[in-house]
Amino acid sequence: MSTLEFFASQTAVLATMHRKEDVIAPLLEQQLGLQIVVPQNFNTDRFGTFSREVKRAGSQLEAARIKAQAAMQATGAAIALASEGAFGPHPAMPYLPCNRELVLLLDSQNQLEIVGEALSTETNFSQTQVKTLAEALQFAERVGFPQHGLVVIAGENAGTDTVTADQIIKGIVTEAQLADALEWALAQTQTAWIETDMRAMYNPTRMQVIRQATENLIAKVKQSCPHCGRPGFEIRERKAGLPCGLCGLPTALTRAVIYRCQGCGFEQAVEFPDQVTTADPTYCSYCNP
Ligand SMILES: [Zn+2]
Ligand SMILES: [Zn+2]
Repeated sequence: MSTLEFFASQTAVLATMHRKEDVIAPLLEQQLGLQIVVPQNFNTDRFGTFSREVKRAGSQLEAARIKAQAAMQATGAAIALASEGAFGPHPAMPYLPCNRELVLLLDSQNQLEIVGEALSTETNFSQTQVKTLAEALQFAERVGFPQHGLVVIAGENAGTDTVTADQIIKGIVTEAQLADALEWALAQTQTAWIETDMRAMYNPTRMQVIRQATENLIAKVKQSCPHCGRPGFEIRERKAGLPCGLCGLPTALTRAVIYRCQGCGFEQAVEFPDQVTTADPTYCSYCNP
């Protein structure tokens, strides 16, 4: 069976209540023939919110897995998808904010777990403390409002602390809503917090990164095991030892990657996956101790 037949005419549930199906469903239907349904009344906020009133359960990957498993249990579906986003400093350039999105596919009949990933510095993720509507409007303009939604949180320390649901107004998409929300918050304390609403349907920039992660997932699904044809034949291990360009001793840089099938265990090694056969001597513990 080819990878493309694997999911053709099958149905999967997508654990979302933030309209992620708008980008995920058409891609999976067109490219894999996988039909997507969104379960009714499936509350994904109980697994964590960006506005800090519910702490995320575990790591980003664990949270995505828990959501997909919960959607399977709630619906009895054999295939489920979930996505989970995270925002923070870029791993290599800490002064740049970045958005990492995961889209996870679980297939309980075939014991498959395939994870698509995208990392992007295209994000408006930010927050600020304001005292006036003018300050709030300045922030709003900077983050792409009203195409991108906003959140107003009441309370002096609400910028970092855990907050309660009654401190927050989310999904603000008009100036009138922003003015009302701010008036409400400023009636309680002298300053209020204003933040970008990172839920997918309020953030078209994030939606694009979810699209990239979905494309990455599809690319991984299409890489099938040369031995048994199972989807998701991907890199499972990196072997260090790229030789130093000066002295030839092995360095910590990658010399080879190992593709491994989760089904039959078939392995394939690819040497010099980064298209370089020697390492810069800067990385050599002998030449540059
Ligand atoms: Zn295999
Ligand atoms: Zn060397």
